[in-house]
Amino acid sequence: MPLSEFDLIQRYFFRSSSESANLALGIGDDCALLDPPAGQQLAITTDTLVEGVHFLPDTDAQSLGYKSLAVNLSDLAAMGAAPRWFTLALTLPKVDEDWLAAFSRGLFELADQFSVCLIGGDTTQGPLSISITAMGTVPQGDAINRSGARPGDGIYVSGCLGLAGLGLQRAQRDQDADSEALRAFLKPEPRVELGLALRGLATACIDLSDGLASDLRHILTASSVGATIDGDALPALQPSAADATVDPVELALTAGDDYELCFTLPAAVTVGQLAQLRTLGVPVTRIGTIESEPGLRLKQADGSVVPLKSRGYEHFRSRTDDNNQ
Ligand code: ADP
Ligand code: MG
Repeated sequence: MPLSEFDLIQRYFFRSSSESANLALGIGDDCALLDPPAGQQLAITTDTLVEGVHFLPDTDAQSLGYKSLAVNLSDLAAMGAAPRWFTLALTLPKVDEDWLAAFSRGLFELADQFSVCLIGGDTTQGPLSISITAMGTVPQGDAINRSGARPGDGIYVSGCLGLAGLGLQRAQRDQDADSEALRAFLKPEPRVELGLALRGLATACIDLSDGLASDLRHILTASSVGATIDGDALPALQPSAADATVDPVELALTAGDDYELCFTLPAAVTVGQLAQLRTLGVPVTRIGTIESEPGLRLKQADGSVVPLKSRGYEHFRSRTDDNNQ
């Protein structure tokens, strides 16, 4: 007999250990009840993954469970918020217990790593889609917005850019099931510790979901500034690691799904502060400078500076838009 909705929740998503400080009531009632800590603001974000749009059909369920939470924790990290709770709205074509077991394993693998607690959700039938709302806390006034970048600030990114994009290309071609690139695409590590360390230091921050050229523009627009980035400085893939058909710099600028942080630091940042950020186990690379002149520019290997046209992934963007660029 197929599992009822309630048995399904009980078996795969309810955990007796589902207690967390500041959680008055978790899964099982009409709402969860939170007692946000005094002096802290709640940071709330939602991300949805839809089969065929955000992941390929037949993606393994464990990676999917992990990634659907990872992309949300990445948003909290970009605000400097500490992740605490999440809800899960799951739409399933059918009840497949092997799939559910693997999905919940991947989900809780990451939830446990950061002590984030599943406090509720919704379960419905339909085309596979996973929607998570994650909540975090940040001391009043300490959240890092997109709007604080100022001319003279340095622009920095964490990790390696383009690795997940290469992973996606390989997954589409069914290559190298075990490669580092595919892992970066399927199981991106949200940069939670880095986000926390950037509180009080970064002037602006965003997580890279759609590609650097696209996401950095959001900081520039929100902050009413421009920027030049140095193509040589980008932590792109080594040409030997990338496929011959892929330009590592192009990939670093336009590929989505890296979930690294892109942030700005004031020119007065000290060597000690940078060294502190670099103790967190993820590379931090300066890639350019915020300028007062609007627009995004790329300094090329020959020293010339060109306007950067390339953009990342955008939903609802048509081919006609491309031709009009
Ligand atoms: P209601 O019909 O009142 O919205 P539901 O029957 O949808 O409540 O859910 C019952 C309880 O189970 C609620 O506490 C809800 O938050 C929780 N829940 C439902 N689906 C999930 C899920 N996929 N993961 C975690 N909790 C869930
Ligand atoms: Mg419901």
